[in-house]
Amino acid sequence: MPINSIQERFAKRLNKRRAEHLYRQRPLAFSPQQPQMKINGVECINFCSNDYLGLANHPQIKQRLIDALQNDQLSYGSGAAHLVTGHHLQHHLLEDELADWLGVERVLLFSTGFMANLAVLQTLAQKGDVLLGDKLNHASLVDGALQSDADFKRYPHRDMAALEKRLQQTHAQQKQAIIVTDGVFSMDGDLAPLHHIQQLAKDYNAWTIIDDAHGFGALGTQGRGSLSHFGLSADANTVQIGTLGKAFGCSGAFVAGSNTLIESLIQFARPYIYTTASPQLNAVAVREALKIIKSADNKRQKLQTLIEQFRTGAKQLGLQLWDSPTAIQPILLGDSARALRWSEQLKQQGFWIAAIRPPTVPQGQARLRVTLSAQHSAQQIQNLLNALAVCIESADS
Ligand code: PMP
Repeated sequence: MPINSIQERFAKRLNKRRAEHLYRQRPLAFSPQQPQMKINGVECINFCSNDYLGLANHPQIKQRLIDALQNDQLSYGSGAAHLVTGHHLQHHLLEDELADWLGVERVLLFSTGFMANLAVLQTLAQKGDVLLGDKLNHASLVDGALQSDADFKRYPHRDMAALEKRLQQTHAQQKQAIIVTDGVFSMDGDLAPLHHIQQLAKDYNAWTIIDDAHGFGALGTQGRGSLSHFGLSADANTVQIGTLGKAFGCSGAFVAGSNTLIESLIQFARPYIYTTASPQLNAVAVREALKIIKSADNKRQKLQTLIEQFRTGAKQLGLQLWDSPTAIQPILLGDSARALRWSEQLKQQGFWIAAIRPPTVPQGQARLRVTLSAQHSAQQIQNLLNALAVCIESADS
């Protein structure tokens, strides 16, 4: 039967999503991104932002933006793609500074992390190659892998024996294996076992792609991310991808790797070539954010202290946490309706924590994804723990 209206196509699907407690909404913020926010008109403490170091509303970055608009030779927008006229000196300097910071040959900026992941996977993985991805990789890595010409196989989350088995098979078939993993898993907060992955990659001549969206800025020496957290560094066959919308507090993303990789992305990556460069002013903001990140050991230390405070308190309450050492501290609640109820109850007590439900997480694993920031205070963490205790005691928990 022909479908004759958009309404007809979607009405049933939308209703089903509502009935399953999976309908998503966009909370409306009336204030800057920071712990104390006004969301949907209500004052609350925000515990679900990725602004791990509190840079999204940092006075030093805001002042730099005002100065740049008044005094520097730049506009707000970039006007065109990088290969046309969009590549501004500010983008160029930022790429060099990011490469210096990470100790890699070269860095390439992207407008979003989603696009960076599509670009790397589509360009690097070719017909005959085998992409081996962790089962809990971010959606953009999954989409990139599915869109590439390579075979795509997933291994159970952080299961190194399963990964090795796949590598053995690929090696026996004389195919190029490419391991793809989040550095910090976005919905669980745990870390990929990168020391083990790096060793396997060496043993089987595999390449490694690490999406460290949640690691850069928050982990490692000078915030150099998950590899640095483990005392490792990238070799010539490792590609790192970072986003600039999380610990950097801005927006956009970057790919870090060898000169050959970056040149290949510039020449062949469709999500790089056919899109407008991110605003010039964003590059200015990220350059300032990078300066802060490099010397933000005190912020990272404070974040770690808050993480420990939260975990200790939550465990005492009997809440089910993940084995996560990072600022992402999910609380497992199981079914979606329950997660929504808790989120609503917390809202009534002045805390904003989104309920994360399938398909973002597996069925039966709905959760509150608590994220902590160095901007939170110990008192705010204690207040959150008190509010969670109320949820536990409440009749419908
Ligand atoms: N990778 C991971 C692990 C992420 O969590 C995200 C953001 N949700 C992205 C990539 C996409 O980054 P961006 O928001 O810059 O598109």
